[in-house]
Amino acid sequence: MNTGTVIIGAGQAGAQLAISLRELGYSEKITLIGDEEHLPYQRPPLSKEYMSGQLADLELPLRTADYYEKHAIEVVTADPAARICREEAAVTLASGRRVPYTQLVLATGARNRRLPLEGREPANVHYLRTRDDAARLREALGAAQDILIVGAGFIGLEFASVARLAGARVTVVEMADRVMGRAVSEEISVYFAARHTAWGAEVLCSTSVDEFQRAEDGRVTAVRIGDRTLPVDLVLVGIGVIPNAELAQEAGLAVGNGIVVDSGLTTSDPSVFAIGDCASHPRPETAGLVRVESVQNAADQARFLARRLCSQDGDYADVPWFWSHQTGDKLQIAGLAQPTDGTVVLGDPGAGHFSVARVRDGRLAAVESVNSPGDHLASRRLLANGAQITEEQLHQPGFTLRKALHAAPEGAPTNHRLLERTTR
Ligand code: ADP
Repeated sequence: MNTGTVIIGAGQAGAQLAISLRELGYSEKITLIGDEEHLPYQRPPLSKEYMSGQLADLELPLRTADYYEKHAIEVVTADPAARICREEAAVTLASGRRVPYTQLVLATGARNRRLPLEGREPANVHYLRTRDDAARLREALGAAQDILIVGAGFIGLEFASVARLAGARVTVVEMADRVMGRAVSEEISVYFAARHTAWGAEVLCSTSVDEFQRAEDGRVTAVRIGDRTLPVDLVLVGIGVIPNAELAQEAGLAVGNGIVVDSGLTTSDPSVFAIGDCASHPRPETAGLVRVESVQNAADQARFLARRLCSQDGDYADVPWFWSHQTGDKLQIAGLAQPTDGTVVLGDPGAGHFSVARVRDGRLAAVESVNSPGDHLASRRLLANGAQITEEQLHQPGFTLRKALHAAPEGAPTNHRLLERTTR
């Protein structure tokens, strides 16, 4: 008997898989298991439009309850999976309910890395990942005057922008020597550090908090950084995430930096798959396994796996892309850059719109664009088509990505639905 597809994790990857399966005509049972109380919702706006009040709670869900009912997708809320029994092909939920599967998909995502603060969890130290985290933080932001942000990654800097707009005093403390160092080139870091400073935030790189001063109830009231003491009434910690791979590990599946899958997104068990932030997967353009933390990756891996589960073959190879809104600027990234990639600046950072081409082995490997959506779309298509843009071409006077796209012969696009989608 076919017991259908069970998806653990009702985030963007899990929900998209259920939706895509039905779109492709999959007719077996689908059970989507979530640990939150909410129906699946969009995560990117939480630190952007939702935080600044431009987007209401109502607009967050990916689909309505009616949609899931009409498409016979059972969404389990607030009942996390507690155990996977592969011998019995069944998942046991925290409530004790047992859900058998024919195919199991792990879309368990990642959780925030936390600061090792001793004692009680301080009520004014926030993390931002879930809808409930965002609602609490948004409310606290309304009353906050002195905000400390630990970590200058996407989360920290997007929140820094919103907090400045709200009029708070903002200090960002970053351990590394530049902002967003994990994700972007030095040129982009320099641009955004200057923009945040111009917006009135104090951005301290190569710095860590030496001491959190606490009130009796555990709240942080001030921090010591070197010989300075800063008053604080709200702390946001954005210091990266840890993949949720424990369920997989306990079930005896291969786990490294996340749940290990092959190019078809299959784990070490042929009836178990993993997608999204938790999946450590091979990519055609990089050596070894990577984990990509983005909505694009979650949604594209979900669509890919839906096709596979409906018996289409192939390897997952969609071009990764990312975006961030900060300081009124739009940062968009196409491709997966490596720290060792070279850079070629296209356009003038001083003019506030430009791109940084990342070069590997003499060829274009990724593009980081600031306020240049045309460049971003062109680079996504160039990378998807496998266009081989050389470093020499990038340096030629008058070179633009858009012109290169028009000049490039149409390759075999790996990301065939690219044109149908737009960036936000
Ligand atoms: P996120 O998704 O939370 O923004 P990133 O990995 O993009 O995650 O960014 C996290 C940033 O936090 C990195 O730039 C990292 O160097 C920084 N960081 C990590 N630990 C600390 C710490 N204890 N103090 C300050 N910065 C930190």
